[in-house]
Amino acid sequence: MLSENIINDYFQLRKEYENNNISVSEVVQYFIKNINDNEDLNAFITVTDKEALESAKISETHFANKSPRKLEGLVVAVKDNISTKDISTTCASKILENYNPIYDATVIDRLKNEGAIIIGKTNLDEFAMGSSNENSFYGKVLNPVDKDYVPGGSSGGSAVAVAANMCHISLGSETGGSVRQPASFTGIYGMKPSYGAISRWGLIAFGSSLDQIGIFSRSLEENSLVFDVISGKDKNDPTSTQIENFNTLENINHKQDKLKIGILNEESLKFADFDVLKVYQNSMIKLEKAGYELIELNFDYAKVWIPTYYIISTAEASSNLSRYDGVLYGYRNESDSDDFIKKTRDTGFGSEVKRRILLGTYVLSAGHHEAYYLKALKARRKIKENYENMLQNVDLIFLPTTPTPAFKFGEKTDNPVKMYMSDIYTVAANLAGAPAISIPVDKNSNGLPIGLQVQTGRYEEEKLYQLSKQLSKIINT
Ligand code: GLN
Repeated sequence: MLSENIINDYFQLRKEYENNNISVSEVVQYFIKNINDNEDLNAFITVTDKEALESAKISETHFANKSPRKLEGLVVAVKDNISTKDISTTCASKILENYNPIYDATVIDRLKNEGAIIIGKTNLDEFAMGSSNENSFYGKVLNPVDKDYVPGGSSGGSAVAVAANMCHISLGSETGGSVRQPASFTGIYGMKPSYGAISRWGLIAFGSSLDQIGIFSRSLEENSLVFDVISGKDKNDPTSTQIENFNTLENINHKQDKLKIGILNEESLKFADFDVLKVYQNSMIKLEKAGYELIELNFDYAKVWIPTYYIISTAEASSNLSRYDGVLYGYRNESDSDDFIKKTRDTGFGSEVKRRILLGTYVLSAGHHEAYYLKALKARRKIKENYENMLQNVDLIFLPTTPTPAFKFGEKTDNPVKMYMSDIYTVAANLAGAPAISIPVDKNSNGLPIGLQVQTGRYEEEKLYQLSKQLSKIINT
């Protein structure tokens, strides 16, 4: 057997596949063993071991025929709100407990067409609503760095699957930070694309004007490789980009001199705790030493990022989730035929999902939609304009991913507003439709990882990967 370091690094592994030093089946077995050995982390809802081993055989013939595809033998875990044909897709909700989609999401199609192997479906906060992965019908997910701490959410299972070497890559979803925040809490890379860069076809909707599929990885190169395969125009998603293909990997090592880096002003820094500030400040010192210009940005609307996000996302959620009524598919409470819809929704949804539906219905209601929903739409436009203006004067925005490192289980569950504040540094990119990457940078004195973010303009993914690579080299040495 090859060393774990080689198996865990797809670029090295691919050479070994090509030279016949290891088979794809052996690699799949290795990851299945890691999944089973770490069952207590609760990262997976469904492990598709049988299907993965069948796909491994097909990949082996591609290597034998010297015709490997772009992702041949790359092992991927998928968040359980992304549709997989004939494979249970629950959104970690009782209401979709027995739901098997009849089609694959576009991202799944594209992965499979290039030879990637799906190893299973990962745990999440119910319907992707949460920041700690404590809201799953299938139980909480533990952080492998320290099991007393949350892994972040809502894509906690996908983050843990990569952080604990249960796959090469995983897919998560973002509405307001659900890839970048758990990436930061578990010490890996997490990428959220521009709105429209990756098709949403088959991603079960939460807040449709914000939702995007994102990518977790242990290296930027693997992240960019997968992005190039799954991104680009999709006729099934009318909100997807007109760009046919992104090509981010080719120039990822390209270097730009004289960078202008936009940083947080004092006002927006005050949300961050001491540990995060220290890591952020140390990184800025290194960037200045490297000769880059740091420019303080005026985030004019930072105060309203969180309220704007929570009004728009809950409004859209209340509409999207109205389809779960026990009639067409999913769980149905049969107890009383007259009001089974009410009972189905009452017993099928967890408490955070119900809170969001209530909030969303309220902000859209006849008496209140002007005061809340329409105002939030205006605020969103201002936030977007502010982002676009800032990005005309700098090459990138550089900021913390989260205001604190991972927190303990139960620490924020009694206070939703405190929980919602975990998203303070992530939601603006979703509201603006801009792409962003969380880079693992350092640890605090308890060994908990801390990540920092790079953000660029909409559809500037090539620049995003390239600058993330350039910066991560400097701040990680
Ligand atoms: N934590 C945020 C929320 O609870 C973000 C969720 C997400 O990005 N899916 O809404």
